[in-house]
Order: sequence, then structure tokens, then C-alpha cells
Amino acid sequence: MGETSRRLPVTLAPRTDELLSSWIGRHAEFYAVPPLAMLRHCLPEASSLRAADLDLNEDQVFRLARMFSADQTMVHRMTFANIAQSSRRLIAKEPVQSCSRCHPAKHDPRPVLRSQLFGWRITCTLCGCLLRHSGRHDRQLLSAATMGLLS
Ligand SMILES: [Zn+2]
Repeated sequence: MGETSRRLPVTLAPRTDELLSSWIGRHAEFYAVPPLAMLRHCLPEASSLRAADLDLNEDQVFRLARMFSADQTMVHRMTFANIAQSSRRLIAKEPVQSCSRCHPAKHDPRPVLRSQLFGWRITCTLCGCLLRHSGRHDRQLLSAATMGLLS
């Protein structure tokens, strides 16, 4: 399979609490490929970035960690694996809120933090500030219509 050749020559450091799909997305941007192509470069069987955030088995975590020359525990922590199955349906499909201190508007490409998809969170996991809700309705429709990446 030539798995070792899949190790990326350049990798980007994840932000604190960054979501796995966001991190993969920033690599995709860096390598100028679609985010799903970046994911499938490592996991050809992956159906979507959303699925990768929600459900990775141990082998998949291992392969991702190897491709990104990262620590498996760290990759695991970037997913929603620690969220109870019954709560996962409440995880938004895209960021619904942000912290004005930790998510500066000017950041390109802008990392998405796990907590931004937790509509039930009121305060920022990093600094404790109140989170601001962002214009979610339009953006949810947009993402559902255009991305096709969300299962
Ligand atoms: Zn914050």
C-alpha cells in the first residue's frame, strides 16, 4: 500500500481544542486540495469529514496520526469521541458560536474549535468568556446545500 509515503512532508500544528475536520481542512488548504480528498488520502474509506469527527476506529486514528506525524492521543482528542453517543445528535454541523477573544475574525484559514459546535455551551472552553452565537440559519442551509460532505 505504500502507507509510509502518505506521511505529509509539511504539517500544521493544531490549535487548542481544534476540531479534527478543521485541522484536516487547513492542511487541505495548504496543499490546495479539497478537504475530503485530504482525508481520503489517508483514509480512502472515509465517507465525510463529519463522520471522521464523530466516528473513528483505533486503526483510523493510528493512520491519521501517522500521516500528520502526530500523536494518536492528540488526534483522538480532536474528535467527538469523548461526547456521549446520546449527545452527539446535538452537535451542530458547523460552528454556531464563537468567542471574541479566542476566535479572532482575521484568521485565514480560520480554525474551528470543537466547542463551537456545542450549541449547549455558554462559555468558551479556553478562556471562560461568554460565547456569541453566529448567524447560523443561512450558513446551515448553505453548508447542507453546497458541501455534500456532511452525512
Ligand atoms: Zn475564549
